[in-house]
Amino acid sequence: MASASSSATSASASRATSSEPVAGQTGPRPATYPAAMQQPISAKAERFTESVIREMNRLAVAQGAVSLAQGFPDFPCPPELKAAVAEAVEADLNQYAITWGSKPLRDAIALATPRHFPEVGDLDPETQITVTCGATEAMIAAMLGLLDPGDEVIIFEPYYENYGPDAILTGAVPRYVTLHEPDWSIDPDELRAAFGRRTRGIVVNSPHNPTGKVFSHDELSLIASLCVEFDAVAFADDIYEHIVFEGEHLPLIAFPGMAERTVSIHSTSKTYSVTGWRIGWTIAAPALTLGIRRVHDFLTVGAAAPLQAAAVTALQFGDDYYRDLAAGYRERRDALLPALRTAGFRVHDPAGAYYVMTDIRDLTDDDDVTFAHRLIADPGVAAVPGSSFFSRPELGRTKLRFAFPKRLETLAAAAERLTRIGATVTR
Ligand code: GLN
Repeated sequence: MASASSSATSASASRATSSEPVAGQTGPRPATYPAAMQQPISAKAERFTESVIREMNRLAVAQGAVSLAQGFPDFPCPPELKAAVAEAVEADLNQYAITWGSKPLRDAIALATPRHFPEVGDLDPETQITVTCGATEAMIAAMLGLLDPGDEVIIFEPYYENYGPDAILTGAVPRYVTLHEPDWSIDPDELRAAFGRRTRGIVVNSPHNPTGKVFSHDELSLIASLCVEFDAVAFADDIYEHIVFEGEHLPLIAFPGMAERTVSIHSTSKTYSVTGWRIGWTIAAPALTLGIRRVHDFLTVGAAAPLQAAAVTALQFGDDYYRDLAAGYRERRDALLPALRTAGFRVHDPAGAYYVMTDIRDLTDDDDVTFAHRLIADPGVAAVPGSSFFSRPELGRTKLRFAFPKRLETLAAAAERLTRIGATVTR
């Protein structure tokens, strides 16, 4: 056993000075693991600590707070899906599916995708679709399968915290491009300047976690033209594709020149309220799919067979299901946002996904991490510190992300507690 006296937290912090920063890695944070679990670990693992999103959710549960931290529904999935899982288990679908996904599920994806997004065109389930253990595995399998150590990958920040560790595990070098408030817009010159000789990839997540931004046609056109010019692959995390309130979701893979250079990433998690199923998939040209499948095969062998079977039922839902999904999230958004504004948060309305990134500077001088911990204790609402979505924590110092995939009663309880913030904050 290595004789390490420093905690994992301080080990991470010292690493941070000598390597690319990673979201969620720096800044004060509680040590959630016992000392006996802190050493020795690999140099890669030492560069990132536990997910702050999941940590905040756990603290919320432990302290009885209303959790608007980790983004997952607290309401049931459609009843047809529960029946479909039961049926699959009853039918003894207990052995491995084909490693890149059961044929019925890949066929269902190939049918459903152009039904929702005709511009994507026909898909060949044999060469273009790979079923993964959630979008999380899809992203890391795609990066590992298509990037080499030292390749640069552009990531817009703020960003979903997994992308930093994904790049580290791949050995790729992240280049962060800031989205500018209040509407989280791209500065075209900054984006162009980030592309260079070593650029091999860009991560595009629209609708966007944590801001709710829906990338515009102009922005996606610019990204596409730069990818073509610099021969880069786009990792398009499209998991919120069906949760849009303003504008529309435009699949990056359908932009000119992008069919052969985009991996689009999808999931049952958000669309069907089954985040624990861990069923996702990639859509990519055959040449890209080859790399993804090679990694996926050895990473996980495959996603859970009975849940793949049940996902076929989900993909066959009619258009009304998707309309209701977006309308339900709009209602939740519209329930939470006024409560946040009344409590003193600065808010820019999210156009999609189910998060809102707020600014706390009118409420407190505390930094985001301190304030997030205080809110959990009193009045008992959990959110995620903004710094965990930035490579440079100072950019998120005045921000908190709230997630609203919750029952209206849960949001009402959060709203009621938020009215008490004024009494608890000190400047
Ligand atoms: N995507 C969700 C979020 O950002 C859940 C993250 C997770 O824990 N996988 O909160």
